[in-house]
Amino acid sequence: MRMLSKEEAKKLRTAIRRRLAPWFEKNARDLPWRRTKDPYAIWISEIMLQQTRVDTVIPYFQRFLARFPDVATLAAAPLRDVLKLWEGLGYYSRARHIHAASQILVRDFNGQLPENPEKLAQLPGFGPYTVAAIASFAFGQPLAVLDGNIMRIFTRWLASSEDIGQQATKKKLQKVADTLLLRDKAALVNEAWMELGALICTPRQPQCAICPMRGVCRAFSLKKMEAFPKKRKKMSVPHKVVGAAVIVNRKNQFLIAQRHPEGGLLAGLWEFPGGKQAPGETMPECIRRELREEMGVNLDIGPHLVTVHHAYSHFTIELHAYFAKIRSGRPHHLDCADHAWVTREEFDSYPFSKADLEIIRAIRQLPELPRWQSSGT
Ligand code: SF4
Repeated sequence: MRMLSKEEAKKLRTAIRRRLAPWFEKNARDLPWRRTKDPYAIWISEIMLQQTRVDTVIPYFQRFLARFPDVATLAAAPLRDVLKLWEGLGYYSRARHIHAASQILVRDFNGQLPENPEKLAQLPGFGPYTVAAIASFAFGQPLAVLDGNIMRIFTRWLASSEDIGQQATKKKLQKVADTLLLRDKAALVNEAWMELGALICTPRQPQCAICPMRGVCRAFSLKKMEAFPKKRKKMSVPHKVVGAAVIVNRKNQFLIAQRHPEGGLLAGLWEFPGGKQAPGETMPECIRRELREEMGVNLDIGPHLVTVHHAYSHFTIELHAYFAKIRSGRPHHLDCADHAWVTREEFDSYPFSKADLEIIRAIRQLPELPRWQSSGT
């Protein structure tokens, strides 16, 4: 990407000051995290908003702040409670990082977020975007944020065809952001870029007719708005076929297992035990093998309960849940962190992935449980 010429930078900065900033002040959405200057609340909102739509985040943000109103309350809570409130929001490593960071803040920073960006950057879950967002929104520091929306806007303003999936392009766009940021209005301009991307300069059918930046936008003058940013070829998304055992004991309790807490997309969450189907295996064979490997129990497989289809960011799954009973063995933690026997009501105390919540929904819709019960406890 060519660098901004001095003259181009001046024109864009003038348009940002005279057009974009007033547009934002007039049109900014009234969002809960915009009504506060509390660095803790701003931090939680920024983490929740990563990869997640504003409408989805609002109720999660409100519930989170009601349950954990400050860093100290969050740090003192069990991780399970934090994951439970995060349930359904996805990218659970965010919740684990927030929890870990809160404990560091209590230990080393008197329960406050530090203003120093270098200290912020040392906390779990604080990448360059989050550091710049907190430093700017909470502490008014002149650091420019850069996310997918802002990269789209900049490539349109500059009619740049470089691939925004490349690290080198991101670095150049960060320099563009640093150059265009108005130091006396850093937080406002950062938010204005984001708002323009969310409301006007959308990926498809941008509303150029009402855009405050159309006078300086090269993509608009070329009438090629949707040609930017350059699209990468879509990689095909892997599809996983997975089996899960729904095991009930004579007290009508269900066997659930906790995933290992370190690493992985759904780490630390609870699930109906099972795993990925191997080539050539039938689904009952898959579930029997997985339960032997994961918990050291031998199963008889019963009726099919439900099949759940779910799309994660990098793969899709097809989860087949079958009732099963333990023929021999007691659950051990061979390849899981923990296990529990819980009633239908007690499911609500444990954090599950969206796919496992669908299994719970199917269980709760049954008029009665099938006579397919294990003696295990
Ligand atoms: S003029 Fe159109 S393409 Fe350019 S910034 Fe505005 S909405 Fe985006």
